[in-house]
Amino acid sequence: MTAGKLRPVPAAAIAEWHETADVVIAGYGIAGVSAAIEAARSGAQVLILERTSGWGGAAALAGGFVYLGGGTPLQRALGFEDSAENMEKFLLAAVGPGADAAKIADYCRGSLEHYDWLVGNGVPFREALWDEPGWEPPHDEGLAYSGGENAAPFNAVASPAPRGHVPRMRDKRTGERGGGYMLMKPLAETAEALGVRVSYDVRLTRLIVDGERVVGVLARRYGREIAVRAELGVVLATGGFAYSEQMVADHAPRLIGRPGAAIEEHDGVGILAATAFGAATAHMDATEVAFFGDPQMMARGILVNGQGQRYVTEDTYPGRIGQATLFHQDNQAFLVIDEQAHEEALATETATPVFRVPPTWAAETVAELEADMGLPELALQTTVEVYNTYAAQGLDPLFGKKPEWLRPLTGAVAAFDLRGATAGFPLGGLRTDLDSRVLHVSGEPIPGLFAAGRCTAGICTGGYVSGASLGDGSFYGRRAGLAAAKGEVE
Ligand SMILES: Cc1cc2nc3c(=O)[nH]c(=O)nc-3n(C[C@H](O)[C@H](O)[C@H](O)COP(=O)(O)OP(=O)(O)OC[C@H]3O[C@@H](n4cnc5c(N)ncnc54)[C@H](O)[C@@H]3O)c2cc1C
Repeated sequence: MTAGKLRPVPAAAIAEWHETADVVIAGYGIAGVSAAIEAARSGAQVLILERTSGWGGAAALAGGFVYLGGGTPLQRALGFEDSAENMEKFLLAAVGPGADAAKIADYCRGSLEHYDWLVGNGVPFREALWDEPGWEPPHDEGLAYSGGENAAPFNAVASPAPRGHVPRMRDKRTGERGGGYMLMKPLAETAEALGVRVSYDVRLTRLIVDGERVVGVLARRYGREIAVRAELGVVLATGGFAYSEQMVADHAPRLIGRPGAAIEEHDGVGILAATAFGAATAHMDATEVAFFGDPQMMARGILVNGQGQRYVTEDTYPGRIGQATLFHQDNQAFLVIDEQAHEEALATETATPVFRVPPTWAAETVAELEADMGLPELALQTTVEVYNTYAAQGLDPLFGKKPEWLRPLTGAVAAFDLRGATAGFPLGGLRTDLDSRVLHVSGEPIPGLFAAGRCTAGICTGGYVSGASLGDGSFYGRRAGLAAAKGEVE
């Protein structure tokens, strides 16, 4: 893709408009469908342009966590107290640095209404809690901790409440489906029942502009260029840039060669087409990071870096472990565990059996293990000695692991080589305001242009919580649809 091909095209140069709608949305994933529903309910004629042959995007493949709180009916039914202020306190601590305080406050205050909106549009949540270390619930539990809320250091910052809301992972007609699919399906059905039109196999390439206003998009359909006119507004909902090698190299180079939890269609085109018209971006270096360690084993063992030293709370959200490993430990990590803990962990259920591989090294003593791992003599032994001394007292003064997971490592020990065991997707993108208006580098909204989802910088600007992408994608997707249907930018 060259910069020339991305430059906006003046409306005066368009000889024929192939399609017209009030609101034109590029991308039929979570942000696009949410925008479509709200724009259609506001009375706008809506057209979605989707590059692939079906709805869903990354959202339909996702585990399905939607980050919601403030005392949702599901939280309350399961006995958890939460408030918008408590949620905000947690997010401000967990998702920075550089957290967008206005967006976080807005998101937390709107969370209860957003839960009701999802349920009202047919998204099912089962009243059951998954309260074990893990990436996702192994069954169809509707609620889980998904950001380290109940682990150090955040359990001392805000009162812990689970906020990972997972749509029920079952569809009687089609069999087992993931939570993301069960989120997208009722929303897509709602959109289409509202009369939203969809053109599949249509790929947005450039914006069409009239002076300072965006009035449509150029797109490719089966190799031919088409011009699509938007009477009121264009919504960009094309996903992030995990699969643009150039953009990853330029902005988030730690992710080079390790895209994860994204789809190949996340090639950054929405971001580039808008920046070619002067749009501002934010937090382009921020990334979500998945870590391929078994959370049940991590909580029971210790994670050490390339020097054999602990560096993170092992019982926290695995995405936080991933960021700590990739950002601060040069992607060097080993999980050390004793035989008893290993057996206990293997007896637990997991949604990610793929992480349950045999250990890389096993030894009778920590000294032998240390030598087998190639660590300097005493490096690991000292770490284990310090850990064991405090664990025997139910304490972890270095990282604050909870007492329930603390037990001295004894007897035969093993280690898993987790060097390079990370993948992720960028969190940065177009700078938008609370109405999802795309902001120009001057700070002014660009008339006629709206965006949501991972082509924008959302609520996470450094740290991450599972559910933030489906959460802010749907939340600000709705705002984009509402604002676009109004048309005018004041
Ligand atoms: C396996 C997996 C698990 C995940 N688990 C979670 C989770 O539990 N919770 C969570 O919050 N997030 C999760 N994510 C991430 C989340 O799914 C995405 O970040 C989220 O879907 C982004 O929303 P979006 O609307 O921006 O993009 P998408 O949902 O991907 O939608 C973008 C759509 O735009 C289309 N498109 C792209 N380019 C163009 C173009 N040029 N023209 C027209 N259409 C275009 C794409 O084909 C796609 O359909 C997961 C992702 C994966 C893959």
